[in-house]
Parts: sequence; C-alpha cells; structure tokens
Amino acid sequence: MNITHISAECYPLAKVGGLADVVGALPKYQNQLGHESMVIMPFYNTKFTQNNTFTEVFKSEIHLGYHTIDFQILALKDNALGFDVFCVHIPQLLYTAKVYSDDDSMRFLAFQVAALDWIKQKRDLPDIIHCHDHHTGLIPFMMTHSFVYDRLRSIPSVVTIHNAQYQGWAGMELAEFIPHFKADRLGFTMWGNSINTLASAIKCAWKVTTVSPSYMEELMYKANGLENLLRHEHHKCVGILNGIDTAVWNPKADDYLVKNYTIKNSLSGKKANKDYLCKTFNLDASKPLFTFIGRLVGEKAADLLPYMCDRALSYQDISILILGSGDSNVEHQLNSLKEKHSGRYNAFIGYDEKLSHIMYAGADFLLMPSRVEPCGLNQMYALRYGTVPVVNRIGGLKDTVSDFSLNGGFGITCNEASVDAFNNAIERGVSWYSHKEAFNKNTKYMMSIDHSWDKSAQDYINLYKTLK
Ligand code: ADP
Repeated sequence: MNITHISAECYPLAKVGGLADVVGALPKYQNQLGHESMVIMPFYNTKFTQNNTFTEVFKSEIHLGYHTIDFQILALKDNALGFDVFCVHIPQLLYTAKVYSDDDSMRFLAFQVAALDWIKQKRDLPDIIHCHDHHTGLIPFMMTHSFVYDRLRSIPSVVTIHNAQYQGWAGMELAEFIPHFKADRLGFTMWGNSINTLASAIKCAWKVTTVSPSYMEELMYKANGLENLLRHEHHKCVGILNGIDTAVWNPKADDYLVKNYTIKNSLSGKKANKDYLCKTFNLDASKPLFTFIGRLVGEKAADLLPYMCDRALSYQDISILILGSGDSNVEHQLNSLKEKHSGRYNAFIGYDEKLSHIMYAGADFLLMPSRVEPCGLNQMYALRYGTVPVVNRIGGLKDTVSDFSLNGGFGITCNEASVDAFNNAIERGVSWYSHKEAFNKNTKYMMSIDHSWDKSAQDYINLYKTLK
C-alpha cells in the first residue's frame, strides 16, 4: 500500500510534542511491514533542516484567493529515517523557527493546498491520505469538494485526532482562500459560526481515529464542543493506541544517556543516570526521585505541580526534578520553589530532548497528573526505561498503566487530577520504594512490556484495507 501522511510535525525535523513522535515513527513501521509510507510536512527553519540536505523535486505556485504564491517540494536526502520526507517550502509563510504561531490558519491552508497540488499531478497516486490533527483538517474537504482536486476524490482519507482541544478555528473569511467548491458545501468546513478544520475533517474523512481507545470513548461526551459531531459520526470512529519508537527510545543504545543499560543491568544503569541528574541538579541520589516532563499547560495539570511539589516535599523524604515550559505563571511558581526546597527540588524551564532522555532513565517515578491525555507517550517511555509512571487514570493513561496493587499491575494510578490524590500516590510510591527487592523486580518487569509500534502500525493498515 502506498500511504501519504500529512502533518505539521515530524520527529526529528520539527517537534513540539507527541504528534511529532508518532508521525516520525508510524511510517517507518509501516514500511517495515512492506508498505510504502511517507510524510509531507512544512519546511521550517529548525536545527534539523539547517544541518541536513534537501533537494527540490517539484516547484509550482498556489492560488489563494487573488494571491499567487510560489512553493517548492524539498525531499530529505538519504533515507536515514526509514521513510521518505517531503517538505513544502513557502519561505514567507512556513519557514519559521517555531512550528506554531498565534494565527496559523493561512499558513496551514497554504501548506495543505501546496501538498494537494503536488500530489494531484503525480503519476502514481497514493492509496491512502492520512492527515494528522487540525492543521491538515481541510484536506478531506478539499479532496471531496474542491473542483481542482477531482482526481483525488476516490482516495480514502483518514484523520487522526492527536488532541481534540485544538481545533483550528478560523474566521469565515478563510473560506475565500480554499480552492473553489460549490457554495452549498461551505457547511462542511464549519462548526458553530466559524470555520473549524478539525470538525471539517471529522465530517469529511472516510475514517476518524484517535490515539487510544479510552480517549475515543471520552471524546463522545467531552471533546471541547465537538461531542455531538463525534457521536453523529461514531460509525467511522476508532481508537488505536500509539506505539513508541523502540529504536529511538532504547536504554541499550540511547546516545543521550550517561550509561546505557538493559533489563539485566538496569539497576546500575539507572543509578548512573540518577547520579548524574542529582549531581547536576543538586539533589540527593539516595532518595526516591520523582520527575515531571511535559508542556506546562492545563491539560497536563501543570498548575497543580507547584502545590503538589511543595506539599510532597513538606511531608516526604524525596527529591523532585521538573522539566517543562509553557504557562509563564506556572514557570514562575516552579522556579520560586527552588530556594525553599534547595537540595531537594529543582526545575529546568525549557525544552531539552537530551535531558528528557536522561530523566526517563534516571528517575524512579514519573508524575503525569494530566486532565486530558489522548494517549500520552511519556508513560510508555518511562516504562521502557524502568521508571514507575504515576498517572491520572484517563485517556491513554488508563489504557497503558495499571496500579501495582492489582494483579499484574506495575504503576501507580489516581482517580483524579488533584493535589490530594497525587500526594497520596507519592506516599504510596515512597513506601513501595523502601521495599527494595519488590521495587527492583518491578523495574525489570516494566522494561519488558512491549509498546512498540509493530501492533499499532498493523492496526492502521487493517483499517486502511477496509476502505479500499
Ligand atoms: P503532548 O503531545 O500532549 O505534549 P505526549 O505525551 O504525547 O504529550 O508527548 C510529549 C513528548 O514531548 C514526549 O516525547 C516528551 O518527552 C516531550 N517533551 C515535552 N516537554 C518536553 C521538554 N520540556 N523537554 C523535552 N521533551 C519534552
């Protein structure tokens, strides 16, 4: 099967969050299953694009309303990623250091139009067009209703919702820039009184997927305004759990780590990484180390973190290390705890891929109090590196972590995102940690759990096959 993924992010070219990890892995695993899977994404001004070679494979112009804009399709040279990547280069709109800005509706419309313009003139058309999130949400609509894409009408389109909180709302004036379609089809681009590109994708795509089965169930009654639409379209909705790229996230071969390790020498391997973290961040390595890695936003319950940490450090003999950026208020609160709990708490405010890897390896526990978690990758990375995930039981967290008090359980789960619930969980963790033998046995067990993409990549292929 010939599969074209279209996405705003793809690791390692440009990453803001989990979307990049998924789009940077799924095509690789689909290729390993014998398919031809590739990615189309914008050409941003990132370290990766600066340091790698791209060649032009196509050049044309798009027409947005009365504007004509030149674009190129640049192919990443050498197939080192395990799949082909083609970037849409529109210097004045897409070539930015940051993936997202305050108003992206025109940028991503231009991206989608250029991608379809390139695809439509190819000799061999894809068998499947797989769109990711709202940034590519108008593609199923344009493929079905814009006259210029008649040739693409019979290609099945799939949209994966990685996060339904963000929907690509735009003023109705954006419609004037969408390639020509019959006026009575305008409603397919809308939800409420505005353009909503995620809603449009849900209406027009042949299949709608989300990144875990539980998140799909949750969306039917809590989808930031799209619940009724999703319930109406439920017959084409399915939840497929994300995998992780076990080649990138591999404690045995991870170049970022201070010491590599396998299940066999996990205790000494984790200790070396923990010692490094504790030395770097002035923490006591003899105490259980609780960590948090992620965007400091409400969905991740980052606003609770300062209170959670402050309370836990007042009652428990632990160390805490935070890595994240986002809400400036939360950043400030997290920074200001440093002085009060010096030697027991630290925070790195910013984005640091290397540090995140060392933290997954060196931590004893990873806190995920998320209020919304479509799949969550962090808990699966934590498991792979032998770190206990402490999670709120929602979305993908519910599908991947079971409490150690249950038969076969290996993590710590809470039933709500609250300071009380997580302090109780931290207390349970501290007590478990003191039973060294059981705790260490669990470390090895967690590392043996298989969350690789193999199964999920096949699930997507099976889904595509139902559409042919
Ligand atoms: P989301 O996409 O909602 O942010 P996911 O759990 O799906 O959440 O993916 C988060 C990804 O981003 C993980 O790979 C995580 O390690 C990474 N990440 C988040 N914040 C940071 C940070 N400040 N520094 C390094 N990596 C980060």
